[in-house]
Amino acid sequence: MGTIFAIKRYAIHDGPNIRTTVFFKGCPLSCWWCHNPEGIDPAVALVWDRGKCVGCSACLQKCPSHSLVAAPEGVVWRRESCLGCGDCAETCPALALEATGREASVDEVMTAVVQDQPFFDQSGGGVTFSGGEPLAQPEFLLALLRECGRLGIHRAVDTSGFASADVLLQVAEKADLFLFDLKLMDRDRHRLFTGVSNAPILDNLRLLAERGMAVQVRLPLIAGVNDDVANLQAVGAFVAALAGVDAVDLLPYHGAAAAKYRKLNLPYKGAHFAPAPPESLRGAMTILQQCGLAVRIGG
Ligand code: SF4
Ligand code: SF4
Repeated sequence: MGTIFAIKRYAIHDGPNIRTTVFFKGCPLSCWWCHNPEGIDPAVALVWDRGKCVGCSACLQKCPSHSLVAAPEGVVWRRESCLGCGDCAETCPALALEATGREASVDEVMTAVVQDQPFFDQSGGGVTFSGGEPLAQPEFLLALLRECGRLGIHRAVDTSGFASADVLLQVAEKADLFLFDLKLMDRDRHRLFTGVSNAPILDNLRLLAERGMAVQVRLPLIAGVNDDVANLQAVGAFVAALAGVDAVDLLPYHGAAAAKYRKLNLPYKGAHFAPAPPESLRGAMTILQQCGLAVRIGG
């Protein structure tokens, strides 16, 4: 079993060709610009919209652990006994309850993935494990990779790279491709904007390259955070020195996640960020190209 928050079909930006993306819940980073804030907390939470609730009690009756109770102020959720099954949200006729994720078995995920195998076969696509951080649920990830491998499905792992080398290498044995995010080369700024050190991330990226793993490096580009010349030159030099890696995908920031933060009632540290202007994007491309790297927008 593992915890996921979405399975997206027909994805075209999560690796090569047409893919099914499985989003793992829980991430050790807390990037200011995160566009999947529902994926940060490993625990499932419920979002209740009082304005939509019609007081039908359907959710109370459905809950197997009696974690929802009626109170004068409306439905009250007892997080401590919640099993994270998501049944209440599926039951709510008014869409007043929404679960930020759910527990899922390997079989359940594989049933969803296998439906799309004809598209993988036709397009050369496959499955991408993303998040959140898939390496943070290694047993679940390894089991899914094993099953996909058994069925001949191409397997990509979209990661921040923040994990132990031991977990990374176990996953590398079963994955076909890593989509590996690099954000900031300066250690202090990395810690400021993501909450963690970049040392294990850089070590892990080097390790994958040394082992000859297929790696697609991706750089989310956020104006005022990591689009400065010094950072881009440092990223370019680092990636260009990796054996077998000769390209970087630039992922320009967009503010589409703001509504998610509002809905989840989470603080959005990146609320003031703006999409990089075209000249900044062109400048970033030029700097990375001068390091000898091919640069793609998106990925
Ligand atoms: S997620 Fe499941 S256990 Fe938790 S409150 Fe909803 S129905 Fe009950
Ligand atoms: S099922 Fe939805 S509408 Fe009915 S009481 Fe629960 S939250 Fe309110």
